[in-house]
Order: sequence, then C-alpha cells, then structure tokens
Amino acid sequence: MSAIADNIKVIDQRIRVAAERAGRDRSDIVLISVSKAILPGDVEAALAAGQPIFGESKVQEAKAKIPVVSSRARWHLIGHLQTNKARDAVALFEVIHSVDSLKLADELNKWSERAGKTQAILLEANVSGEASKFGLKPEDLESTLKAINQLPRLEVRGLMTVAPYTKEAAEARPYFRRLRELRDALGLRDLSMGMSHDFEVAIEEGATLVRIGTAIFGERKRREPSE
Ligand SMILES: *Cc1c(COP(=O)(O)O)cnc(C)c1O
Repeated sequence: MSAIADNIKVIDQRIRVAAERAGRDRSDIVLISVSKAILPGDVEAALAAGQPIFGESKVQEAKAKIPVVSSRARWHLIGHLQTNKARDAVALFEVIHSVDSLKLADELNKWSERAGKTQAILLEANVSGEASKFGLKPEDLESTLKAINQLPRLEVRGLMTVAPYTKEAAEARPYFRRLRELRDALGLRDLSMGMSHDFEVAIEEGATLVRIGTAIFGERKRREPSE
C-alpha cells in the first residue's frame, strides 16, 4: 500500500472514532483531501485509495491540475476567491466553501446562470475575529444569507471557518462550537471545519466536512500563508 493509502486509512479510522465518541454517524462526515501544492500523481494515489473529494485553495492551481487528474475526482474550493475568478470557479468546483460577500455571490450567480448550473456554496465566517482571516462577521451572516437566498442559481449548504491555529487542538473547540451555533440559528446543514491537527475536535462539535491535507499527503513543500 502507498503511504497515502495508509494515511487515508488511518484518517478514516480516526474520523470513525471521533464520530462514535460524539454519538454521530460516520456517514454524516465527509473527508475532503486538501490537495493544494500536491502533484497530480499523489491525487491519483488518493483516488485509487477510495478518496474521491479534493480541496484546492487557488483557482489558478486547480485550473491546471483538474484536467490532468481522472474525471472521477470531485473538487471543492476551500481558499479565498476573488470576484474576477468567479467564472473559473463555477466551471471547476462542485462546492465553493469560501463565499464571504454578497458581491462575490452575485458574480457566482451570474456565471452559474450562464453555465446552466446551480452552484453549491458555503458562507465563510470569521468566528475568531482575527484580522488576518477571511470571512463574514458573525453578525453579518443572517442579512447576507437572506440576500443570497434571493439568487436563484446558488444553493447555500452551510458555513465554513478556519479556526486559529492552536498548540492544543482542544483550544479550537470554542470556535467550532460557535460556528455550529451560528449554523443552527440560520437553519443550514453543513459545517466545514477542522484540519489535520484539530479535525477530531471539529467532529465532536458537529463538522460535516473536514478538510485534511498534511495528514494525508505529508508536509507541503512551501507552507501556504495562514488563512
Ligand atoms: C491548507 C488548508 C487546509 C488543510 O490544512 P492541513 O493542516 O494541511 O490539513 C484546510 N483548510 C484550508 C482552508 C486550507 O487552506
């Protein structure tokens, strides 16, 4: 077995155990293998190991990678999206996790209309309030959701957040809990939260989509700027 297949097996087991601990169904949690900065060959290895969904953080990189990976792969955008890349994003991604303004939503709606597609999205929330983070302020979520719900080509599935990096995973728990409370208040379904070092805590707090890169593919050559 390849190292990647081994890692996926271990992660799958850890997801299962975390779900059990929280009294949740394993089938309610979707693993997204974060393939940013990862070469197509390693993506194929993850696909061969039964892992169909990949997360990319940059449209440019995904645009080059997606056509050379088996069409069985499904792609989610997890990184910040600029309005001028909305058209490409609609063409490439099944789910866009990082919608953080009405202006961007309008643009995605326009390109989805032209593509004859309904685009699934998540609203990114900045629950820590860190200036370095993207995302809507929690207090702006409700009005933004209301406005986006008027856009016929977008389907808002839930909320996404990037918790602050904490030494101990458990220290991220309040941020995950806050996102869940916001999701519940808005009546949405999905919670995209939890990364390699803290996904088990995120699952205990209700994550339905966990975004895991390093623990599957190993350390990336160049660290992404923290987002
Ligand atoms: C890179 C990235 C991840 C994966 O991080 P790892 O620590 O490698 O698991 C998850 N979510 C977002 C938004 C990212 O940019």
